[in-house]
Amino acid sequence: MMIPSSQKTGVVAAGTYLPAYAVPTRRGAIPICNGDEDAVTLAIEAGLALLHPDSDGDNAAAPGVEELILVAGGGPTLGGAQAEVVREALGLPEGTRVSLSSGGDRLGVVSALLSAMDAVAVGRISSAMVIVSEVGDGQQIGAGAAAVLVAPSAEPAIRITGIRSDGAVVFDRWQEPSAHSSSNEPRYIQHTVERALAALLDTADPSHGSVVLTGASPGAARSASVGTALRHIPDFGCAGPLFAMIIGAREFPTAYTVAAVAGSRTALVGCAAGAGSAEVLADPLVDGIVAGGKPEPAVAPMLSLPSSSPFFERSARELLRLEGARCRQCGHVAFPPTQRPICAECQSTSFDRQPLSRRGSVYTFTVNHFLPVGFGTQMILVLAELDDGYRYWAPASGVRADDVAIGDPVRLGVRRFTNDGGVPVYAMKFLAERSASAALTAAS
Ligand SMILES: [Zn+2]
Repeated sequence: MMIPSSQKTGVVAAGTYLPAYAVPTRRGAIPICNGDEDAVTLAIEAGLALLHPDSDGDNAAAPGVEELILVAGGGPTLGGAQAEVVREALGLPEGTRVSLSSGGDRLGVVSALLSAMDAVAVGRISSAMVIVSEVGDGQQIGAGAAAVLVAPSAEPAIRITGIRSDGAVVFDRWQEPSAHSSSNEPRYIQHTVERALAALLDTADPSHGSVVLTGASPGAARSASVGTALRHIPDFGCAGPLFAMIIGAREFPTAYTVAAVAGSRTALVGCAAGAGSAEVLADPLVDGIVAGGKPEPAVAPMLSLPSSSPFFERSARELLRLEGARCRQCGHVAFPPTQRPICAECQSTSFDRQPLSRRGSVYTFTVNHFLPVGFGTQMILVLAELDDGYRYWAPASGVRADDVAIGDPVRLGVRRFTNDGGVPVYAMKFLAERSASAALTAAS
């Protein structure tokens, strides 16, 4: 589909997230998930990076989001309950429309972008956030997530000028009768990439340069884009087109068309950078990926209460959003609000919701080696003093026992805590406070 360039709709903000661990591959290192990360936690990290770019989480003013479109590639299928976890953790109101595209098809991102562009362009909604999570395969496809906010704007950070996709319907004609169904057949990839790329590059302004950013099928892209600059980026599977859009708009602001090739089923997005895109869009840091670190194994401890119990129902919102209760009479803040009906300082019973800071430093910690079945061999519990002065305790994630000290900066993030009868349960954990690239370097 080609989108008229006069249309005043585009990407006005973006956020990305890469896990802190990476493994070497033939074409460079790719990030892999920690044991407590999945499509949901990746999506939350990328969404928060978009909503609160320099921040403290819920305290900063965030742009409005009328519809949330989630796309998950690889790994377990994303369900409705998990989509609600993402919405809640991002602090979006209960009435926010949430739609899901799940199951690892790389074309999902194309239909998600189209649906967001269409809905905003015709005025059905005023803004849509598309978040694409890719859990990766640890071999060729890196784990990561990217979020973009599509909204009306005279000068968006990224203008999407065309979207092309080709799926397995075409492939059937190429298949040998005896062949297994594999859309990785090189001639098929070559054909679809060439056709889609040519159609997109046709729309480029010839007075500007064009660049093709590709994570998957670099060979096909190279031959299909002769005379056009080609930049190789890590393959982020279904999140690849969004990473390519963001990197292209930041690093090639004068190139009219940036096309992203994603995977064996071709998905391409043509776009152009708007004025000031480099300032608006944060660097996805894909150039800083260095192999290193050993992810923690996934654990699945028993819960003392079932995940469907009233405790979890009542406290889900305040746990995922990190909200306390501030006493209207004396200002004392208690956490979690639903467990503290009476103020410990003045015995008042009236409270207001109070967002807590997501950042702080280690006040004290303990390494617990005696754990119930399902927890693994050890757990670091951190009591941190948050930047707004309140103290909060939570397990640490991705932190080694010999690498944590009082005073260390930490941040709170949502991670998977366990699987309760197959239902994933999410909770806040303390994470080492460092940028993705610094973490990757430190881990190597
Ligand atoms: Zn009080």
